[in-house]
Amino acid sequence: MIDPARAKRIKLLGLDVDGVLTDNSLFIGVVDGKRVEFKRFDVQDGLGFVLLRGTGLEVCWVSGRVSESTAERARELQVTELVQDKGANKLVPVQEILTGKGLTWDQLAWVGDDIADVPVLRKAGLAIATDNALPEAKALAHHVTAKCGGHGAVREVIVDLLQARGEYDAALRRYLEARGDTPL
Ligand SMILES: [Mg+2]
Repeated sequence: MIDPARAKRIKLLGLDVDGVLTDNSLFIGVVDGKRVEFKRFDVQDGLGFVLLRGTGLEVCWVSGRVSESTAERARELQVTELVQDKGANKLVPVQEILTGKGLTWDQLAWVGDDIADVPVLRKAGLAIATDNALPEAKALAHHVTAKCGGHGAVREVIVDLLQARGEYDAALRRYLEARGDTPL
């Protein structure tokens, strides 16, 4: 369970990509002499981002790898704050995003899995590690997910975060009503 007091302070949900939105797999090949790279994303995670719409919570993805697969998935999910920094320095871009939005580290929830996330996990108001995360990341986390990255960990974070804020039922209702479905 995510601590409600921490959860209620959050304005921005920041996510690492590889190992959080994916299971860390990279599918690399060559087609017609051109390098191709694919990643496998989780559809249930995707619907989590739809549930966030209308909650006021903003989202950013910050990756240490430059990949068109990630950019395409972000576009598909209408995630407009995407930084792909091949130097894997996440502290600087996250600070820039926070500053740009007039937010503080206290208002950031960060989900990470590896040592590249450690500097951000140290500063985030709500530090979350996925179950597949390295011990160094888990040691800094206020919360560790039950699920692994690429296998529903992000959906789990979104649901738990909204529940801790008391906003989940309304988000679900909004989603169902927008589709013309009966509330569950
Ligand atoms: Mg990672």
